[in-house]
Amino acid sequence: SVHPRASWSSDSEESDSSGAECLYRVVLLGDHGVGKSSLASIFAGIQEKDAHKHIGEDTYERTLTVDGEETTLVVMDTWETEKQEEDEKWVQDYCMQVGNAYVIVYSITDRSSFESASELRIQLRRIRQAENIPIILVGNKSDLVRCREVAVEEGRACAVVFDCKFIETSASLHHNVHELFEGIVRQIRLRRDSKEA
Ligand code: GDP
Ligand code: MG
Repeated sequence: SVHPRASWSSDSEESDSSGAECLYRVVLLGDHGVGKSSLASIFAGIQEKDAHKHIGEDTYERTLTVDGEETTLVVMDTWETEKQEEDEKWVQDYCMQVGNAYVIVYSITDRSSFESASELRIQLRRIRQAENIPIILVGNKSDLVRCREVAVEEGRACAVVFDCKFIETSASLHHNVHELFEGIVRQIRLRRDSKEA
């Protein structure tokens, strides 16, 4: 277990007011090479020692203070595996099931990754039909202006169609990366608070 006092958040546990700390699993989705692992390691603060707990190979836990309140996110960079195809399918099914929030990443320099992002959004909607889970569409590599294949407006329009949030980031420049994770925390809270009301 990750944390002795922690309880995983799920629909049935969310109303638990025992004071136990809640963890929210944030799953990164997207094609190979779009920058998922780069975003995850910035989240984890890889350079800053002790700022985070490195749980497994690809899973990072960190408590963020957003708007004066603490929330612990567990970011899962587990979408891509180096294992055999059968295992990959199992892992990907698992990823689709366990997230409390999703970050769907594409690269603004790679149109096919943008198309994959739409497919992932559709897949997620099918698998988690009845649930109102926070999803953020991320156009990464915004620093590579000369190689841009996907316009900001296209990303924004896609997010409107898919009813999710949108942000462009640059993992290389650390631009908008903290804003991304803060945005996830706010989305999680909005849903939690509207459930409590
Ligand atoms: P993943 O396969 O989705 O995990 O992608 P990685 O995080 O491994 O990144 C793939 C490659 O893209 C690496 O060489 C990164 O250095 C590079 N990369 C990731 N994010 C950015 C970015 O925002 N800007 C630029 N210029 N390169 C990036
Ligand atoms: Mg990776």
